[in-house]
Amino acid sequence: MKRYFNQLCLYAHILKERYGRTAERLYVYWTSEEKRANALMEFDYSEEQIDKIGSHFDKIVQKIREKRFGVDKAPNYEKTCRECDFRYYCASNSIIELKKLKYPDRQSN
Ligand code: SF4
Repeated sequence: MKRYFNQLCLYAHILKERYGRTAERLYVYWTSEEKRANALMEFDYSEEQIDKIGSHFDKIVQKIREKRFGVDKAPNYEKTCRECDFRYYCASNSIIELKKLKYPDRQSN
C-alpha cells in the first residue's frame, strides 16, 4: 500500500513542478473490484509527504544524470534481487551474495 501512496505522491509532485497545479485528491482505483463503489480508495496526505517523496525522486534523477549507478547499499535479496536478471552480474561484482532458493514444500533426502 505504501508503494501506491508513494507513487501517487510522486505524481502530485510532478503535477506541481511541471504544471504548477496542486493535486486535490489522491486515489487508487482497484480494477479487479467487482463493485465500482469498492474500487475507489482515497489517501489522506500532506504537502510535506509530497515534498518528501518529490525530494527523494529528484535525488535519484540527479544521480542518473551524473551517471552514478553504483549500488551503495545492496537491496534485500529475497524481496528485490532474487528475481532480478542482473543478480549473477551483481554477485560476480560482489554487490550482492547469491543465496540458495528455498523450497519449503520439498524435503531434502
Ligand atoms: S541483483 Fe543487482 S541490479 Fe538486481 S536488484 Fe539486486 S542489486 Fe539491483
